[in-house]
Amino acid sequence: MRFPAEPFKIKVVESIKMTTLEERVKFLEEAGNNLFSIPADTIFVDLLTDSGTSAMSDRQWAGMMTGDEAYAGSRSFYRFEETIKSITGFKHVIPTHQGRVAENLLFSLIANENTVIPSNSHFDTTRANIEFHKGTALDLVIDEAYQPELELPFKGNMDLKKLEAVITQYGKERIPVCMLTITNNSGGGQPVSMENIRSVSSLLKSVGIPLFLDACRFAENAYFIKTREKGYENKSIMEIANEMFSYADGCTMSAKKDGLVNIGGFLALNDTELSRRITNYLILIEGFPTYGGLAGRDLEAISIGIMEALDENYLAYRTNQVKYLADLLTGAGISVIRPAGGHAVYIDARKFYPNIKPEEFPGQALVVELYKQFGIRGVEVGSLMFGKKDEATGKEILPRLDLVRLAIPRRVYTTMHMNYVAEGLIELFTHRDSVRGLKIVYEAPVLRHFTARLERI
Ligand SMILES: *Cc1c(COP(=O)(O)O)cnc(C)c1O
Repeated sequence: MRFPAEPFKIKVVESIKMTTLEERVKFLEEAGNNLFSIPADTIFVDLLTDSGTSAMSDRQWAGMMTGDEAYAGSRSFYRFEETIKSITGFKHVIPTHQGRVAENLLFSLIANENTVIPSNSHFDTTRANIEFHKGTALDLVIDEAYQPELELPFKGNMDLKKLEAVITQYGKERIPVCMLTITNNSGGGQPVSMENIRSVSSLLKSVGIPLFLDACRFAENAYFIKTREKGYENKSIMEIANEMFSYADGCTMSAKKDGLVNIGGFLALNDTELSRRITNYLILIEGFPTYGGLAGRDLEAISIGIMEALDENYLAYRTNQVKYLADLLTGAGISVIRPAGGHAVYIDARKFYPNIKPEEFPGQALVVELYKQFGIRGVEVGSLMFGKKDEATGKEILPRLDLVRLAIPRRVYTTMHMNYVAEGLIELFTHRDSVRGLKIVYEAPVLRHFTARLERI
């Protein structure tokens, strides 16, 4: 079967409206061509992010009613803690209101101007949290990850030679932790193999550096291990997840992804002393350790959602919906990162618009056209998100790829929505020669893509 039918039926619907081209041109003008500043009400298919955009199940909504709102010792916290422990096996579970707070807590305590923190690829908030504390964030993903069209089962893998070289160069004293992002969001939503997690872990253990997983999409990663890695065909997703976490010393997680909720996250770890220090800081910035910035009902929804995310029928539908869209685009000659990632389709914008120079933001130009013509919102993951102005020369330092990410919210859109998106993109591709690039007219010093304003060149 090309695409498994949605393993759910729809109980509640939310209508979406179609705006006119004139209205969308006006909204783009007001937003400075930044899709983060566009009212979501004016978007027909919103693929900005898969973060916090999931549809919750009837069981999760029922859980929202039974959440215990006690300030301390909430029943919902104990259920949450037990659920997270059953998946990760870590000793200490610290709830946060989203993933970046887990990162903030961790890096506030362990990062400084001397620290170097390697990862396969740091996500933008992870990198920003490290750099905010003057630490150095290094991306050590395998070189193949930078070849968008190369089909490999585990393009999110860490390059062990690069990791070894970094350890030799800086010494373990300067590396308080090594991260692995599963799946690798910034690198195309590509999975990391069990073999790679195991090897990274044993290399780090041999020198005494802890490994933390950035586990936002651990369930999707586990499904790819089950379907692509030898020896895991007959294991359950829970067994695979248990093994993945067994190689790590802790994790940060945004439950807004594989937690199937609209808000929430956590930090989990084995180091009791570090956990104590983090908890003290948590009380200062988030709240008491048994709610950590969340309501009891949110903890309840995560406990139910994260278990639903381990369901194999759900994961088959989920990952195949992404693949379905990627295959439609590939079939029309549009370059996308292959194979399809777990949560998003990534279009190679430099190939889509070869006439737009990388310093003129081909990815952002595509994102703007897609909204203008079809009311579809994607996000640029390229020169705008990761590029930086060189302080000395004023020139842009550019990343290796300019991508447009179409992130697919979980359980929200149907196959027909995917067809609509594909047809829109194919039409833009047909008229690709008429589009010009953009220039930045305002940018913030960190995470500039959220608030930048751009003008057409
Ligand atoms: C979303 C995400 C984060 C940050 O989580 P938030 O809940 O958005 O703060 C960190 N790492 C990865 C890989 C992510 O996808």
